[in-house]
Amino acid sequence: SLFTSSPPVYPSPATAGIGWEIAFAKADAFVANLTLEEKVILLSGVAQGPCIGNIAPIPRVGFQGLCLQDGPLSIRQATYASVFPAGLTAAASWDKGLIYSRGLYLGAEFKAKGAHVALGPVAGPLGRSGYGGRGWEGFSPDPYLTGVAMEQTISGMQRSGVQANAKHFIGNEQETQRNPTTSQNNVTIEAVSSNIDDRTMHELYMWPFANAVRAGVASVMCSYNRLNSSYSCQNSKALNGLLKEELGFQGYVMTDWGAIHAGVASAEAGLDMNMPGPIGSFIPDPIGFVTTGTSFWGSNLTIAVNNGTMSKERIDDMARRIMTPYFHLSQDNDYPAIDLESGNLNVLAVRPYLDTFKIGIANVDVRQTHAQLIRELAAAGTVLLKNVDNALPLKAPKTIGVFGNDAGDSTNGVYTLSLGGNSGGNYEYGTLPVGGGSGTGRLSYVVTPLDALKNRAARDGSLLQYLLNNTLISDPSTGFLSIAPSPPETWAEESADRTTLLADWDSTAVVESVASYCNNTIVITHTGGLNIMPWANNPNVTGIVAAHFPGQESGNSIVDILYGDFNPSGRLPYTIAHEEEDYAFADITNSTELQETEDPNAWQSDFEEGLLIDYRHFDYYDHSVLYEFGFGLSYTNFSMSNLSIRNVYGNNNITARPPPAAIAPGGNPTLYDVLFRVTAVITNTGSVGGAAVPQLYLSLPQIPGDTPTPIKVLRGFEKVSLQPGQSTTVSFDLMRRDISYWDTRQQEWIIASGTIGAQAGFSSRDIRLVCPFSPL
Ligand code: BGC
Repeated sequence: SLFTSSPPVYPSPATAGIGWEIAFAKADAFVANLTLEEKVILLSGVAQGPCIGNIAPIPRVGFQGLCLQDGPLSIRQATYASVFPAGLTAAASWDKGLIYSRGLYLGAEFKAKGAHVALGPVAGPLGRSGYGGRGWEGFSPDPYLTGVAMEQTISGMQRSGVQANAKHFIGNEQETQRNPTTSQNNVTIEAVSSNIDDRTMHELYMWPFANAVRAGVASVMCSYNRLNSSYSCQNSKALNGLLKEELGFQGYVMTDWGAIHAGVASAEAGLDMNMPGPIGSFIPDPIGFVTTGTSFWGSNLTIAVNNGTMSKERIDDMARRIMTPYFHLSQDNDYPAIDLESGNLNVLAVRPYLDTFKIGIANVDVRQTHAQLIRELAAAGTVLLKNVDNALPLKAPKTIGVFGNDAGDSTNGVYTLSLGGNSGGNYEYGTLPVGGGSGTGRLSYVVTPLDALKNRAARDGSLLQYLLNNTLISDPSTGFLSIAPSPPETWAEESADRTTLLADWDSTAVVESVASYCNNTIVITHTGGLNIMPWANNPNVTGIVAAHFPGQESGNSIVDILYGDFNPSGRLPYTIAHEEEDYAFADITNSTELQETEDPNAWQSDFEEGLLIDYRHFDYYDHSVLYEFGFGLSYTNFSMSNLSIRNVYGNNNITARPPPAAIAPGGNPTLYDVLFRVTAVITNTGSVGGAAVPQLYLSLPQIPGDTPTPIKVLRGFEKVSLQPGQSTTVSFDLMRRDISYWDTRQQEWIIASGTIGAQAGFSSRDIRLVCPFSPL
């Protein structure tokens, strides 16, 4: 049963600073000392500031304001900052430690540039549709994998002292009509409404946000879209109910830029911070925000409190929610000044800035030695999909041909200079290290695949030739050489969804043309999401390497993989099906009729597939796929043995309902009690060292009369490095939440009676060992 409306949940739960007690006391004292007008300053951004979002300083009390900066893979409005692999590549590494380090170093760069709040990581979009323009900013359509990645990233970022922001809450699964538009007859056509049933909300879309809250995330960004007919940033069920009450979120909810549509009503629905503040409208390209000066909040909130429309308690709670993470991360203590250049790069800023912002010198180099991690993580997140007759690794080949527009430098687009900080774009020439929009980064350099291959070829004495013009390559009169890395690419960016799942720029013709001359063609892809690969079964295509968006060290990481300096260990964080039509189950909502509608409510996106997205869909309908979720090859082989499961919950009986407990960030803490531990032995049976990614899936019972339960769901993974012949035992801890379903009637996580199948293997379709157990 889909929600057609959002039930009201009031009043907004007040924070008690659970987990942040010392900071909460400081925030409480700080807020008690403010006038109403000063409190209101904390709640809304100002345009006269150097950052993408700015909370004005309050000099009377020595508060220097807050600087908020994009985004999930880099501090975007900055020079001399690193461009890390995108979330998608990080997820493809399945490496918790590397994902944590990425968060740690990202956080350090934001802090060193004077940003208090980093606007990432992303768990929404989760990736319901492969066509989504922003899937790559987040991690994976699997909520468990994304949940772990959220937790690791946030812990790392906040460990460095910057506030993380989990975005976009919630149901922001498409870019098309993410914001309201105006029709031909001047009618406001409301943003698309993501209509999500309660169980799917909990088990899929909310799941990784629960991890984020549990990790102590400082803030959550509500999304542009409507959820079950009500705008996400004024949806009391989502903000008061799900996020603050059920998940026990103690931090603050901020709007996406311009996502506020009401004054007092949004505050009462659970919104705490209004960004960028003044009312305005987006201009599509470059991404920008034109402000008019007035605000839904600001002095309107002061009036509302003074005339009794709104309670003073709610304003105090909003202010405490904003100040508690600030004190918790000691941001009151000698925080670095804002890099002057960040302000110069902010196209949305209204100048002059308030002179009370603490602005430092320009162009601070914050990159340190982060390039090493970037190179390693990009290699660790590169997925080897096909490798026939040991085409890879390359061994000092005599000749190499490099083909395609993704191999070399950008020639007709500029990576670093576009005003919004957008890296590249869908230009014909130039490798794609990252996607576009607010989630991009400003490259200080990029190592292209061609650069790195040239270096390596020179070392080996190989003959290397290249042709980057796709039109020429698809012309059959050209001749080719023996080993041909041929890179197709797919651009993806905020505010637009993808129109095809094929790689761009005639890539199919390019691969087919190269393969028709070269019987040892290795295809490398750089993509912002999944791609259909019509050439995958071409016998002359002997290798396929999916590198997604690897960041600034792109070429080095690829060469590390191609030559075996880094044994491939990435695994697909989504499914590659055979054909585009296979993904019709979760399409982007769009049509000519909708584009021309005069009905304000016309844009409805019913998530009718429920829990069955990505591999859950293909498994449920027993559909063959090209490369399944969790799949990826290595230059070695692994075996798995001795699967066992034991109850580690002590002598306590496991009850179907979670034992009641005081709410903590993440929700009822007993949901995270470890009930079972599954172990298995992994052995490297090949002849070179490498890393395995053992994965644990559970088959949970069907719930009669309810939305279908997936055939299997990921509930554990590890990445382990093993030398030839070496074995190790991996263990997967199953928490109560992992073996429960969301019971919509009881409004509770319940362990269903019956048997659960624990299945361990090396991908979602390469299950090696099975072990059923009955928890109750
Ligand atoms: C995006 C957010 C981003 C904000 C500020 C919005 O368009 O949706 O993710 O943080 O802009 O740039």
